[in-house]
Amino acid sequence: CLCVGSYSDGDAIKVYVRVRPLTQGTGLTTDGDRNLCLTVTSPHTVRLHSKPEPRTFTYDHVADMDTSQESVFSSVAKNIVESCMNGYNGTIFAYGQTGSGKTFTMLGPNELNDFSDELRGVIPRSFEYLFFLINREVERSAGAKSFLCKCSFIEIYNEQIFDLLDSASASLFLREDIKKGVFVEGAVEKYAASAAEAYQVLSMGWRNRRVASTSMNRESSRSHAVFTMTLESKETGQEVVNIRTSQLNLVDLAGSERQRDTHAEGSRLKEASSINRSLMCLGQVIMALVDVSNGKTRHICYRDSKLTFLLRVSQKIVWRSYCVYDLSQTFLVMELTPNKLLEMVLCT
Ligand code: ADP
Ligand code: MG
Repeated sequence: CLCVGSYSDGDAIKVYVRVRPLTQGTGLTTDGDRNLCLTVTSPHTVRLHSKPEPRTFTYDHVADMDTSQESVFSSVAKNIVESCMNGYNGTIFAYGQTGSGKTFTMLGPNELNDFSDELRGVIPRSFEYLFFLINREVERSAGAKSFLCKCSFIEIYNEQIFDLLDSASASLFLREDIKKGVFVEGAVEKYAASAAEAYQVLSMGWRNRRVASTSMNRESSRSHAVFTMTLESKETGQEVVNIRTSQLNLVDLAGSERQRDTHAEGSRLKEASSINRSLMCLGQVIMALVDVSNGKTRHICYRDSKLTFLLRVSQKIVWRSYCVYDLSQTFLVMELTPNKLLEMVLCT
């Protein structure tokens, strides 16, 4: 599991590893003798019993098999959701081969329909925490602060974008705009006023994803599902209204298994290479971001795939300030550029 966001310690990216428990028949974490093929040796290290030499890997955090969904949420998502409340964008995605527990971690057990399920994953828990923070802020500010929450849910399959909230729509395009940044043109946005409403949007999209996987042959293990929550917070002072917009992207990536392992042929081969393209670009972008956060100058090739282009905002702070003039009960909202702000300061 990888998280991209703004952290107080200055890191751009944190990597968490979750080791899934053994279940019969998967063979994912066992070798032929049913011995574990890896051991968690500390909260930061995993020892892989590889041959001829065992190897140790270090991450920001390693969660062993018995780690609860609540604990995964707390270590992975909590501070990203908090940053989102403070106007920063953040992204959480799950990476791994099919069967490694991405969907379980992000959403919950496969047939999850129950919002109160103990096994619900990072996404529903993020909704709950976000709305808990929103309600607390609204109460504390005695009405001076208000929040607006919009959800969209898209699927990237074969470098094409489909709207999971509108199964009838054709494939959509990414656009870039000075104000909005990168966005999926025409994607349905649903307002959510509570965690339960956000969860309804999620469930609807998830159902559409399943239907598309059978009727349109869009195998979900080969697609990236991106749930985006756009949070707009408005704070009304005596003369000034501050509006902040931030985005939280919650992503269930396609399986990371390699093309040669899937015996891909024909259109499947095309799919595999497109999926690998998004995943490969993601890997390159992450490496470049790590270099940049270490002080190196690097070009970050976000544009090379749909996924990285869309998630580019994960790093950017969107921070807008508006000024409101009361013109005989009509509110005129004007966006302030640094120059205009300077002008205003000079005028007043
Ligand atoms: P992926 O989305 O990576 O293909 P899934 O999330 O569908 O994998 O996981 C495969 C199976 O393993 C599912 O039946 C899921 O419920 C189960 N599973 C995965 N991780 C865990 C876990 N940490 N605890 C219990 N069951 C898990
Ligand atoms: Mg899955």
